[in-house]
Amino acid sequence: MRVGIIGCCGRMGKMIGEMAVKNGHEVVAGSDRGDNVGKILSSVINGANHTKIVDNSEDVFKIADFVIDFTVIDVAIFHGELAVKYKKPLLVGTTGLKEEHYAGLEKLAKDTVIVTSANASLGVNILKSFVKKLASILDSSYDIEIVEMHHRNKVDSPSGTALILGKAAAEGRQINLDEMAIKERDGIIGKREEGKIGFATLRGGDVIGDHTVIFAGNGERIELTHKATSRELFVTGVMKIISWVKDVKPGKLYGMDDVLGL
Ligand code: NAD
Repeated sequence: MRVGIIGCCGRMGKMIGEMAVKNGHEVVAGSDRGDNVGKILSSVINGANHTKIVDNSEDVFKIADFVIDFTVIDVAIFHGELAVKYKKPLLVGTTGLKEEHYAGLEKLAKDTVIVTSANASLGVNILKSFVKKLASILDSSYDIEIVEMHHRNKVDSPSGTALILGKAAAEGRQINLDEMAIKERDGIIGKREEGKIGFATLRGGDVIGDHTVIFAGNGERIELTHKATSRELFVTGVMKIISWVKDVKPGKLYGMDDVLGL
């Protein structure tokens, strides 16, 4: 596959590029921001083409057969529109997408293949299925709290993965996450309301991503934890998406469940 990477100089973009090359793909185009623009792609991604890094993502869509975006949420819809214009499949791996982004990408996904994955790791996607199952078994006397910790440079909170896990819990309970989530407790006076799903965010150091979903009942507590110890985990998931995407037709907004067949 001839791959293009938007955000090619970022932590994820660089690692994805290097693993794609190791897996026999070609990294033919890259875009980024700031001082990185104008550098030669292979000076950032070992084994990539000798293409220049550009500051406009449209060129990446012109050249590549599959475009991977690990940047910021503001450009997700624009990249979806370019994917439709150039009839190229797109992966949006950026986290922190909001309902409006998902709704916009869902519309565009009718015309070209678009995959979103706020967490490409196999473990987190399996955890998500367990959380949904547990939430469907345990009634609302079990309080659900989701605790996450990430490195000090992370810009969004709660993490995209915490929200995915919250959504899975809400689906299991057949409730609406937006109505039942508590993301901020400062200023709230009074007891915990039954049925709510709480989120707690920790930031510090170089933590790649820890998530714990707690079901706290009377006299017992079940805790499900996932800890990412290397970003390679996500990159391996992205390699699965690259292999999967070539046989897929547009029609819906795809996610890791579709890729992993969960
Ligand atoms: P990073 O800050 O290291 O890299 C982002 C790169 O994107 C930077 O080089 C930046 O210059 C570039 N960029 C920003 N806006 C751009 C634009 N409009 N066009 C081109 N380039 C642009 O961040 P990172 O750690 O690589 O993470 C990127 C995103 O991926 C974050 O949202 C992060 O949470 C997410 N992430 C997703 C997964 C997953 O499994 N899906 C895993 C880890 C991180």
